[in-house]
Amino acid sequence: VISASTRVAGIIGDPVRHSLSPVLHNAAYRELGLDWVYLAFEVSGGDGPGALAAMRLLGIAGLSVTMPHKNAVVAACDVLTPRAARLQSVNTVTRLGDGRLEGDSTDGEGFLRAVREAGCDPDGLDALVLGAGGAARAVVLALADCGARVRVSARRLPASTATAGLAKAVPVPWDERDDAARSAGLVVNATPIGMAVEGSVTGETPVAPSSWHADHVAVDLVYHPIETMFLRDARSHGAATVNGLGMLVHQAGLQVERWTGVGAPIAVMRAAVNATLASPS
Ligand code: NAP
Repeated sequence: VISASTRVAGIIGDPVRHSLSPVLHNAAYRELGLDWVYLAFEVSGGDGPGALAAMRLLGIAGLSVTMPHKNAVVAACDVLTPRAARLQSVNTVTRLGDGRLEGDSTDGEGFLRAVREAGCDPDGLDALVLGAGGAARAVVLALADCGARVRVSARRLPASTATAGLAKAVPVPWDERDDAARSAGLVVNATPIGMAVEGSVTGETPVAPSSWHADHVAVDLVYHPIETMFLRDARSHGAATVNGLGMLVHQAGLQVERWTGVGAPIAVMRAAVNATLASPS
């Protein structure tokens, strides 16, 4: 029952009505028996800092941050975790006991948890990250920090170079990505290529099917569809595959833990999001 003492958390973004975060977080609160509620707030570009001022005023306990605010809210936080400071990107804002707002980025750690859950330890692996946007930057930093040798390939070489520069990774021209994929152990799709557009699956993939072999681990950050062409090609060549739901669930789980101080019920959160994705509406 929602009462006057219910704690409030939520997500700010635009668009945000399609977000799966309310499903993930509210499933966790229910399972843990916490008097918490998680809502979606549609906040237009430019209003991210204002939303954080409102968070301060209203005593909102935690906010997830998504497009287009991840960079804009950095300066509105009172304190940043080292990884958020290195990325200059925040996806998690925590209202500390003294009222200060802490900015963190859980995407990279969420990615690592998903990969490790699938039995893959990136330490010492050759990794290729496709794309150089916000998700790619978090993944490159996380992989490099845990001992992987990282290469980055995006369609704009300057973007690859900038993202690689975060972690002494090596940029690779986009038209050399298939060869780079062939020689890597771990290949990550951090572009939206293969994502369903208005509900229709495109069947596109960022690497040629002939790049795959049985020793690969393929990770797609895209989770709609759950099995993209990128993952299907990899699987049909015997590679291990990790879909985008793992990272989605784990980055939210890290937020639950940070805000409530309780371990996140990952299996319950995953089941809730799977049920939502499987439902027709
Ligand atoms: P972003 O900041 O917009 O970056 C997208 C990257 O992909 C950029 O490097 C972009 O290149 C490149 N790209 C886009 N379309 C391309 C195309 N047709 N051909 C080649 N490259 C293309 O987006 P993001 O936030 O990093 O997200 C990337 C993907 O990861 C999205 O599908 C998102 O849904 C997914 N994601 C999943 C999770 C999860 O928890 N599973 C978390 C975060 C993101 P340009 O800069 O040249 O456009």
